[in-house]
Amino acid sequence: MSAPEQCGKSCRHVPFITLSERKPRVWITLSGCNFRCRGCFSFAREPIGEPMTAKQVVALVKNAARDYYDDMPLEEAVITGGEPTLDREYLVALLAQLKEVVCEIVLDTHGYFLDDAYLQELIEAGVTEVMFDLKAFDEQLHEWYTGYSNLRILENIRNAYGKVKLVVNTVYIPGIVDDREIGRIAEFLATLETGEPIDFRINRFRAELSREPIARNPSPEEISRAYAIAVRVLSNPVIGKSCVRERVTGEKRGWITVFPDGTTKRRTRDTYRAENATLRFRKLFDL
Ligand code: SF4
Repeated sequence: MSAPEQCGKSCRHVPFITLSERKPRVWITLSGCNFRCRGCFSFAREPIGEPMTAKQVVALVKNAARDYYDDMPLEEAVITGGEPTLDREYLVALLAQLKEVVCEIVLDTHGYFLDDAYLQELIEAGVTEVMFDLKAFDEQLHEWYTGYSNLRILENIRNAYGKVKLVVNTVYIPGIVDDREIGRIAEFLATLETGEPIDFRINRFRAELSREPIARNPSPEEISRAYAIAVRVLSNPVIGKSCVRERVTGEKRGWITVFPDGTTKRRTRDTYRAENATLRFRKLFDL
C-alpha cells in the first residue's frame, strides 16, 4: 500500500471492504464523517484504516472478487461509510472505475452534500441507487442529533426522486425519532411519490451500540406501529435492519472482510454478535 503522503488529497481512509457469501456483492467502507450523530454506531465515523486512492480500492475489489467468486462482473457494490460523499472528485473517480466491474452501484449517504449537480455527476459516473439516511424531519431535532440542519437533505431527496432509484432509511429512536417523526417523514415522502414507489425503511435503534446513551431499544409494538403509520400514506414502507440486503438468510452464511493489504477474515452473524458484546463490555467499563 502507498504511504499516506504519496496519496495526498486523492485518498480516503479505508478500514476494509466486505464480500457477501450469498451473492457477488461488495460493500466499500470509506471512513470519516462530518456529522456527529448522537446515536451513531459506526466505528467508521472517524477516518480509520489505510489511505487509498480510488484506483487502489478498485484493484482491491477486483482481486478479492476474482479470488472469491467465479462470476464477474459483480452484481452490486454498496459504497458506505462513514460518509462517502465528503470528497466529490474521489467518489466520481471511484464510481467511474467501479462500473467496469460491477453491474449496480448503490450509494449510502446522509445526503447533505448531494445537490442536483453532484447527483447528476454521480449518475453519469455510474450510480444506480441512492440510499438517504434521513435522521429526523424536524429541523431543530435534526440539528440536535447530527449538528446540521436537514433543509438541504430534504431538498436533495426531493430532487433525487425520479432521477435514480431512491431509498430512505430512518432509525426509530424511542422518545426522539418515534411515531410523530415517522409520520412526518412518511407524509413528506408521500408528497413526492407521484410514480415509482419510494422505498422507506424503518430501522431499529440499537442502544447497545449507540455513541451516547440517548434512548432504549424500541419494542416490537413500537416498530409495528411505526410501520402502520407509514403504510397509511406510502405504498412501500419496510421494517428493516441496516443490512436489509442480506436479511433473508435461513442458511448459515457470512461475510468476508478484506483488509487493504489483501488479508481476509470471515465473519458470521455470531462473530458480529460477539464483537458487539465486546463493544458493550468496553463501554460499560469505559475502556
Ligand atoms: S452520518 Fe452515519 S457515520 Fe456519520 S455520524 Fe451519523 S450515523 Fe455516524
